[in-house]
Amino acid sequence: MLAKGLLVGMMMVASSAVMAKTCDVKVEATDAMSFNTKEIKVDGDCKEINLELKHVGKLPASAMGHNVVITKTADYKDVAKAGGKMTLADSYVPKDDARVLAVTKIIGGGETTSVKIDASKFKAGEDYTFFCSFPGHWSVMKGKFIVGG
Ligand code: ZN
Repeated sequence: MLAKGLLVGMMMVASSAVMAKTCDVKVEATDAMSFNTKEIKVDGDCKEINLELKHVGKLPASAMGHNVVITKTADYKDVAKAGGKMTLADSYVPKDDARVLAVTKIIGGGETTSVKIDASKFKAGEDYTFFCSFPGHWSVMKGKFIVGG
């Protein structure tokens, strides 16, 4: 009985170690044109990243819409500018652009959206930026997207 209890205990430790892996991340955005964090961190060995965006404000998407776009930091300004020429229906991101590693749709106050991201797109240690591509937001609504480390 003691051996059996020990085995169950070991299995519980193993499964909690799996649960502790950070592959599910959440970000909040506000009516004050801000995210609640300047940094999103995920583990380097995730297969899939689940990114959730919650808009905790009240303004509609047409006035204070937010999304999360992830690119390499070197690409972020160019992608943001190209996105500014697109429409709300396009989530203000250029279509079929390989520089866009992840994007959620644009949401308004009280809404939540999420996206599953293939983690193999990211390399540990590479410099990535997340930002909101709604016109005029990207220069202040941004932060580091950190994989591993
Ligand atoms: Zn925004």
